[in-house]
Amino acid sequence: MNTKPAKTKINLLSLSKQELADFFVSIGEKPFRATQIIKWIHQRGVSDISLMTDLSKDLREKLLKECEIRAPEIEREEYSEDGTKKWIIKVGEKDLIEMVLIPENDRSTLCVSSQAGCAVDCSFCATGKQGFSRNLGLDEIIGQVWIAANSFGLPRESASRNITNVVMMGMGEPLLNFIPVVEAMKLMMDDNAYGLSKRKVTLSTSGIVPKIDELSKVSDVALTISLHAPNDQLRNELVPINKKYPIQELLDSVKRYVASCDDKRVTTIEYILIDGINDDLSHAEELSVLLEQLPSKINLIPFNAFEGSNYLKPSGNRVKRFQEYLKNKGYVTTIRSTRGDDIMAACGQLVGQVNDKTRRKERAQKNKIQIKAI
Ligand code: SAH
Ligand code: SF4
Repeated sequence: MNTKPAKTKINLLSLSKQELADFFVSIGEKPFRATQIIKWIHQRGVSDISLMTDLSKDLREKLLKECEIRAPEIEREEYSEDGTKKWIIKVGEKDLIEMVLIPENDRSTLCVSSQAGCAVDCSFCATGKQGFSRNLGLDEIIGQVWIAANSFGLPRESASRNITNVVMMGMGEPLLNFIPVVEAMKLMMDDNAYGLSKRKVTLSTSGIVPKIDELSKVSDVALTISLHAPNDQLRNELVPINKKYPIQELLDSVKRYVASCDDKRVTTIEYILIDGINDDLSHAEELSVLLEQLPSKINLIPFNAFEGSNYLKPSGNRVKRFQEYLKNKGYVTTIRSTRGDDIMAACGQLVGQVNDKTRRKERAQKNKIQIKAI
C-alpha cells in the first residue's frame, strides 16, 4: 500500500512575478511564461490551467499535476442598501477577514485586508480591539482582488464593471505585513494583471516609520496617513504606535517618501472625528499648523460606532465646523461618506472573526509577539 502523503500543489496565486519566473526556469521553461500565466489568472480571471491555450499541451499537463490556482474561500457575502458589498473570507484554519467593494458611478473601489486582526490597537478601531491573529499571504491578499474582479462576471472583457481603485484599508496594518503587501500591490499595478496606476492603489498606515522608508525604496503607491490627532499627547492615546514613532518622526518619513516619488504628491491625512475627544476647533487649529510642513489633503472620517466602544460620532454640525476651519486655512478637506453602515462594512467596523473566549486568549498571545517585533 502506498502511504506517501499526497504532494501539496503550488498555489500560483501565492507566487510573486519573480517567483513565478524562477519557478518556470526551475522546470526548464523560459521566464516569460510568468507573464503569460499572470495574464491568464489576473487579466482574464481564468483558474483552469487546461484553458490556457498559449501554453503547450505538455506544459499545461505538467502544471495541472503540480500547481493550482486557489483563491481564499468565501464564507459569506453581504449587500448593503447603498450598493456596497462585503465579503467575509476564510483564511487559514479559523480566521475570517473582510473585504469591501464600494461602487460609485463609474468607480469601483475595493478595500482590501492585509492581516487577520491588528496589533496596533487603536482605541477607536474594531479590528484593533480583536488583536492580531495572522499575516495574510500574497495569495490571500491578491486573491481578494481576484475574487472581486471576477464578481463582475467572466470573461473579464465583457464584465459589467472593473475595479478602478484599491485601498489597503481593510483589516490590519499593511506595513506590518510588508513583503506580501508590496508584491500584491505590484500585481495590482502590473499591466498584465490589473493595470491600475500608482495613484489608484493606496496604502493606509498608522505610521510604522522604518517601513515607510522601506516602502519608498520599492514602491510609489499613494500613501495615506492615519493621523487622527494633532499632538503627541492625544495621538499616544488614540494610536498607541505613536509612542514609538511620534508625529514629527512620522511626518519626516512621509516627506522622504514624497521626495522619493518622481511625481508631485499631496499626502492624504486621515482624521477620525470622535465626539469631544479630537473634534474641537482648537484641534483643527493645531492640525492646520502642524500640516503646514507637508502638502496635504485632509480626509475627515466621522467615527463609526461598534459594539463595545464608548466613543461617539460627533454631530453633523461639529463635523462641518471642523471642516470649514481647515478649508478656510486653505486645505482641501473632505468628509468621508459612510458606506455600507447597515452591513458593518464601514471603516473601522471590520471584525471578521467570531470572537469566542479561546480565540481571544490565543490572539492576546500572538498580539504580544507581534507588538514586540514592531
Ligand atoms: N491599519 C491601517 C489601515 C486599515 S484602517 C490604518 O490604520 O491606516 C483603515 C482606516 O479606517 C484608517 O484610516 C482607520 O483609522 C479608519 N478607522 C478605524 N476605525 C474606525 C472607526 N471606528 N470609525 C471610522 N474610521 C475608522
Ligand atoms: Fe490597526 Fe489600522 Fe485599526 Fe489601528 S486603525 S488598529 S492600525 S487596523
